[in-house]
Amino acid sequence: MNEQQVGVPVPFRRREPLAPYTTFRIGGPADWLLLPDSARGFVAAVRWAIDQDLPLTILGGGSNVLVADAGVDGAVIVTTAMRRVEISGAEVRAEAGVGMSDLCEFCAERGLAGLQNFHGMPGSLGGAVFMNARCYERSIGDVVRCVHGVDRAGHEVTFEAAACEFAYKRSRFQAGGVWVAEVDLRMEAGADRGHLREAMSDFQRRREAMGQFLFPNAGCIFKNDYRTGTPSGKIIESCGLKGTRIGDAEVFSRHANFIINRGAASACDVLALIRAMEQAVRDRTGLELEREIQLLGRWGEVSEVQPGG
Ligand SMILES: Cc1cc2nc3c(=O)[nH]c(=O)nc-3n(C[C@H](O)[C@H](O)[C@H](O)COP(=O)(O)OP(=O)(O)OC[C@H]3O[C@@H](n4cnc5c(N)ncnc54)[C@H](O)[C@@H]3O)c2cc1C
Repeated sequence: MNEQQVGVPVPFRRREPLAPYTTFRIGGPADWLLLPDSARGFVAAVRWAIDQDLPLTILGGGSNVLVADAGVDGAVIVTTAMRRVEISGAEVRAEAGVGMSDLCEFCAERGLAGLQNFHGMPGSLGGAVFMNARCYERSIGDVVRCVHGVDRAGHEVTFEAAACEFAYKRSRFQAGGVWVAEVDLRMEAGADRGHLREAMSDFQRRREAMGQFLFPNAGCIFKNDYRTGTPSGKIIESCGLKGTRIGDAEVFSRHANFIINRGAASACDVLALIRAMEQAVRDRTGLELEREIQLLGRWGEVSEVQPGG
């Protein structure tokens, strides 16, 4: 396809490596990388991909994804330039690409409470809604009023919170076919700004104390299963997996539910390590870990590598 002829409606790049767009710093190229800077541009970009019959992938902050070494076919829309936020009383409307920490600070400065637990969590609002991200006992779905998006027919759609099917680390958006452009949040007005700032600093400090930002990573690889009563990290740790390494991918010694990239880890290394962790936990405890991390792109047949290599 000749880009001069296809009328791409937003800034774009061809065959752009995706590693810099992820917190793991891993991943091959996007065939088409589209960079809308507004919700309107996002809608146009989605419609363009549909018209061109291209597979469509959305990337926010890239903090919960493992992008294949072979890259991603079709169009990848990166939302991080979509950052407009409007406030009316306790109602906030924000574009999907706004960073969660920026949004927390923006709201706190205006005395709006509800998001402070998310301060320090990497990623965008759209990614948080997709994942129903959860920090310190609060899920983003708790503060969502409605979500505005585009469906696979290119129609603009709005889902009230009840229709978003939020549950622990789940939302209806994970089923595909609706992409998030903007989110309306219901905040609590009149909060003490100083208290909000203190709470946000505290959450940030806790993350730093856990070493979350020392190495490239994508946060927790597995969800917790509350029926077991034990966080997945503790289960993995009890199986003696801390420090297990494949290539440059390593089970983090300070938090066994994190995999860190020691420098040159490939997506293949990380996936092999994920599978090795799943197998070890299955063998030693009989439990099945459920993945939280989202695998994006073209994987083909990825060979199994044994830990320690
Ligand atoms: C150090 C660290 C700490 C973390 N701590 C936490 C934590 O405490 N709690 C927690 O829940 N998570 C945590 N995470 C994981 C991650 O930050 C969250 O899941 C975050 O909400 C992902 O947002 P993102 O914009 O980076 O999404 P991405 O990683 O870019 O995307 C994640 C998924 O959402 C989809 N997506 C993104 N934007 C859209 C959109 N606009 N429309 C439709 N689909 C979209 C993507 O296609 C992908 O499938 C952590 C990650 C790191 C690296």
